[in-house]
Amino acid sequence: MTSIADTRIAVVGAGLVGSLLACYLGRRGYTVDVYERRPDPRSIPAERGRSINLALSERGLDALRRIDLVDTVMAPALPMHGRMIHGKDSSLTFQSYSSSGDRAINSIGRGALNETLLDAAEATAGVQLHFDSRLADYDLATNTLTLEHGGSLNSVTADVVLATDGFGSVVRQSLERIGRTSVVTDMLEFGYKELTIPARDGAFAMDADSLHIWPRGASMMIALPNPDQSFTCTLFWPKAGDGGFGTLETPDEILAHFTAEYPDAVPLMPTLVEDYQYNPVGLLATIHSDPWQVDGKVGLVGDAAHAILPFFGQGAMCGFEDVVELDRCLDEVADDWALALPMYQERRRVNSEAIAQLAKENFVEMRDKVGSKSFLLTKKFEHALEKVLPGTYLSRYEMVSFTTIPYSEVIERAKKQQRVMAVAAGGAVIAVATLTTALLRRVSGSDD
Ligand SMILES: Cc1cc2nc3c(=O)[nH]c(=O)nc-3n(C[C@H](O)[C@H](O)[C@H](O)COP(=O)(O)OP(=O)(O)OC[C@H]3O[C@@H](n4cnc5c(N)ncnc54)[C@H](O)[C@@H]3O)c2cc1C
Repeated sequence: MTSIADTRIAVVGAGLVGSLLACYLGRRGYTVDVYERRPDPRSIPAERGRSINLALSERGLDALRRIDLVDTVMAPALPMHGRMIHGKDSSLTFQSYSSSGDRAINSIGRGALNETLLDAAEATAGVQLHFDSRLADYDLATNTLTLEHGGSLNSVTADVVLATDGFGSVVRQSLERIGRTSVVTDMLEFGYKELTIPARDGAFAMDADSLHIWPRGASMMIALPNPDQSFTCTLFWPKAGDGGFGTLETPDEILAHFTAEYPDAVPLMPTLVEDYQYNPVGLLATIHSDPWQVDGKVGLVGDAAHAILPFFGQGAMCGFEDVVELDRCLDEVADDWALALPMYQERRRVNSEAIAQLAKENFVEMRDKVGSKSFLLTKKFEHALEKVLPGTYLSRYEMVSFTTIPYSEVIERAKKQQRVMAVAAGGAVIAVATLTTALLRRVSGSDD
């Protein structure tokens, strides 16, 4: 059997998941070559309008903690303790994410996170990063990567290939072409576009401790704070048709629409028209692939295996959990990849399917329900139950964002808790009815 140091691993893609994976594998003692199609992001400015920040929560923190990176990553992070709901009448309502009020998700720059992970990977013995190296093709029979670098092609082989090349993974497509994996792409009819609320007088123009949401039923806008005291806003609108991106063209149309839908945001967005006109519309989809590995030679990790919708802020978190689980599997089978990759797939696929479902459901919650009075009441009731039953009752949001309870268990637990809520709510109604009847009787003098 080949020793760990003699096992050559090729990681394709140095995004969030690929760079974290390289750190983990390097620490195990592997020789790891990471191939990334882009130039080194540490030496170029960020792309315009492409998911500037993201929410980092417990699952990601857990993965970073295990390799002592959490303090570096969290240094510029901005905690968000709840949602700030912006009504069409410019009203503001704050909803805490936890019953205690002290739990927060963290807004973090995607670029900064990626750069910290790249620095850490580069500093890990055995890891080599190769930028401007685009995977053009992958051959499973020989585990060969054909890479394009500066206009010329070269080939490299590896003992194990790990694909972290994201949503449009070339490795996954190569496996699909030869029938070694099957892929279902569930495109969302909504796209996203990013806008900016800059700092005002050197300070945040809105509350920086919140994730801001403008729920508008069929669509929404959200905003997360950045360390430079700006906010990145993201519109989630239909790609076409009524209320969609295609319907607004002229500056007047854009301003009129935003003034009607997001009146309190417009005065805070001096570059609204320009941002709207020039920033691209990103696509959103869920990728379901199966299997995620072939013969212990090649494995899919992160978005390459399971891109999900962004509405629970869990896509990267789920990819980070993949890395932790793969590392755990390697521990359990003494680095036998033929056993580790199937074990990893078995444990993770069910969970990625679960969070894919939760993320889809959360879109409806964010764009529609969060603004309603009944949602607020339910949240209050949930938080009250959490206080009465500490550690026993945990809202779905808290389980996803503040624990590492496997996503599939979150779904099961949430279903059971919903039944308890229904019974408790029924009990409360009966108690109130009984009390009211007793009081009425007393008032009418008929209870003696
Ligand atoms: C609008 C939006 C908001 C989001 N918000 C959150 C959030 O709040 N929290 C969260 O956890 N997740 C969030 N996500 C999801 C998150 O961005 C992804 O899950 C995460 O980036 C996946 O990481 P990855 O490394 O698997 O893929 P990617 O980040 O896509 O990285 C893939 C890498 O592979 C490289 N690559 C691609 N093709 C090739 C090739 N042929 N050869 C070589 N290299 C290649 C790419 O250049 C890239 O560097 C959001 C996503 C979107 C779209």
